[in-house]
Amino acid sequence: CGIVGYIGTKDVKSILIEGLKKLEYRGYDSAGIAVMNDNGVHVFKEKGRIAVLEASVDPNVTATMGIGHTRWATHGEPSKHNAHPHQSASRRFTLVHNGVIENYEKLRNEYLAHVELKSETDTEVIVQLIEEFVKEGSSVEEAFRKTLSLLHGSYALALIDNQDAETIYVGKNKSPLLVGVGEGFNVVASDAMAMLQVTDQFVELMDEEIVIVKRDHIEIKTLDGKAVNRAPYTAELDA
Ligand code: GLU
Repeated sequence: CGIVGYIGTKDVKSILIEGLKKLEYRGYDSAGIAVMNDNGVHVFKEKGRIAVLEASVDPNVTATMGIGHTRWATHGEPSKHNAHPHQSASRRFTLVHNGVIENYEKLRNEYLAHVELKSETDTEVIVQLIEEFVKEGSSVEEAFRKTLSLLHGSYALALIDNQDAETIYVGKNKSPLLVGVGEGFNVVASDAMAMLQVTDQFVELMDEEIVIVKRDHIEIKTLDGKAVNRAPYTAELDA
């Protein structure tokens, strides 16, 4: 299982699919991508191999930002509707997640009793919670940090907002996640190998940190909003 993301100037579909192929070794039962352009967010997901997903992606959709996922099911059977990305009720927010949310039932009962969930995953509560907090008046970043601070368990997450084509929000706790930096683009990946195709400069993330990833810069913060400065390192491919 693994996640990838890219925001820049090139065709994001092929970058995400290539990245997911590089993560195949981690094991998976389904895979998906969400890409965003002027027409909104387009989600493609399938049970089975990355090649099946690749064949399902509409070649006419062009986009330069998006996120992708290979799933190793922990909650909810392997199926197309449980595959990631998952979307909020209004479809404004789209999320990929690796890991396990141990308190998802409690969060669902406490905050989401009025929301009809579309999957059997632990993941979906995350994206629904973000939408709830935004509806209550939080900014997207605040809602993202607040939601992550309520989660117990492990996660590597990437979120996009259909009202903002300039930002990917990522967060991490006890699951691996790196941000890769480039000239005019930035990426995220569970493993540097997935994105060595576009950059070898990576920034390591610590648990309970988020990153606001834009085309031309990244901003690392703690869950309570404090800025973090960390320099990139050069990743080398093991022969
Ligand atoms: N727990 C999530 C699910 O079952 C994510 C699994 C994963 O890490 O791929 O959908």
